[in-house]
Amino acid sequence: VYGKNVIAPAAVETVLDAHVQKAVAPVLPNYKGLAAYRAQGGYGVLQKLRNGEMTRDALIAEVEAAGLRGMGGAGFPTARKWKALLEQPKPRLLAVNGDEGEPGTLKDRWFLETDPHGFLEGVLIAAHLIEAETAYIYLRDEYPALHLVIAEELKALKAAGFLGNVKIELRRGAGAYICGEESAMLESIEGKRGLPRQKPPFPFQVGLWGRPTLINNVETLYWIPQIVDKGAAWWQGHGRNGGKGLRSYSVSGRVRNPGVKLAPAGVTITELIEEYCGGMLPGHTFTAYLPGGASGGILPASMNDIPLDFGQLEKYGCFIGSAAVIVLSDQDNVKDAALNLMKFFRHESCGQCTPCRVGTEKAADLMAQPKWDEPLLRDLAQVMRDASICGLGQAAPNPLLSVLERFK
Ligand code: SF4
Repeated sequence: VYGKNVIAPAAVETVLDAHVQKAVAPVLPNYKGLAAYRAQGGYGVLQKLRNGEMTRDALIAEVEAAGLRGMGGAGFPTARKWKALLEQPKPRLLAVNGDEGEPGTLKDRWFLETDPHGFLEGVLIAAHLIEAETAYIYLRDEYPALHLVIAEELKALKAAGFLGNVKIELRRGAGAYICGEESAMLESIEGKRGLPRQKPPFPFQVGLWGRPTLINNVETLYWIPQIVDKGAAWWQGHGRNGGKGLRSYSVSGRVRNPGVKLAPAGVTITELIEEYCGGMLPGHTFTAYLPGGASGGILPASMNDIPLDFGQLEKYGCFIGSAAVIVLSDQDNVKDAALNLMKFFRHESCGQCTPCRVGTEKAADLMAQPKWDEPLLRDLAQVMRDASICGLGQAAPNPLLSVLERFK
C-alpha cells in the first residue's frame, strides 16, 4: 500500500507511531503510594534516625541481631558490610543493585511493583548510615514501568521533604547480565562498558570513581525498615528446618502456581511446591530443580529435603543465590537444560578473560555432542572455576557438573 502511494508516507508514520507507542507504553502496577505508606507508619524509622531518637549503632545492632544477609545472591551479612564502610574515609557513595538479571529471578520487581516506598526508605536509611552524598539506583531496563514508578515516587519524596541532603540518581541498565555483578555495575554507572573489576580492592574500599561505595540489593534494603521497626526477634521468628528469616522465592517451571512466594527461609523444595505453588502442573512428575537460577546448579527430585537457604547447598556443589527456583518435570531433559544454560553464559560472558570467554564457547560445543567427553569437560570446568575473573565464569560450569555428578 505504501509503495503504491495509496497512503501518504506521513500518514503511515502517524499510524506506526501510534501503534509503537501503544505497544511499548508500560502498564503501571497498582502499588502502595507515599500517602498509603506513611499512613502505615512508613518513614518512621528514617525519621527516628535523622532526629536522633535512634542511633546508627542501635540500628546496625538490630540488623546484625536479625542476621540479615544480602538478598542479591551473595548472602554477605548486611551489618558487617555497613560496618566495613564506616571504617572507610568520606566521601562515601551508595549504589543499589536492581539489575536482577539471574534467569528465573523476579522478586525485586515484585517488591518494587507492590511497595516501592518500603525500598526507598531502605535506600535513605542506608545513605544516612554511611553518610553517602549520592545514592545511585541501578535498575534494569527490562522493567520500564518501574523506572516510571521510582522516578515518580522520588519526585513525591522530594516534594514531601524526605530526601534531605541525599541526592538520588536513577540509572538504567541496558540488558547485560554481567552488569548485575557488582563491580561491572559500578563500571556501568560510571558510563563505561560493564567489565567486572579484579578484586581486591573491594568496592567498599575503592568503588564508584575510586570512592568507598556501599552496594546493597533492592530486597536487602526493602527489609531494613521492617526489621528495625518490628525488631530482630520478629525476623528471627520466621524460618523452617533451621533457617532464619523470610525469603522471597521466585518459583517458575512446571508448577501449578508459579510466582514470587514469600516463605520461611529454609523451606524444602517439596514444601515450596506443595504448600506455596499448588503442586505440580497436571500431567507432570517432579524430576529435578534448580535452587538458584542459572548459576546455582541442578538437583534431582530425590534430594528434596535440603533447606533452601544460604550455606545449605554448597556441599552439593549448588547454591541458593537470589532464590530463583526452577522446577523441572519428566517432560524436561536435564542435559538439554544444562546445555541451554551454558549457551546463556556463552552469550552473556563479557569476554574479558579467556577461561570464561573461550571456556563457555568450548563447553557449549562439547555439550552439544551426542556423547559427552567427560574427562575433557571436567578439565575445562576446573580451569573455568580456577581462573575466571568473576562469578559468571566461575559458576558457569555448575549445571554441567551437576549433570555429571547426579544425572548420569
Ligand atoms: Fe567477563 Fe566471564 Fe571473565 Fe567475568 S569471568 S570477567 S564475565 S569473561
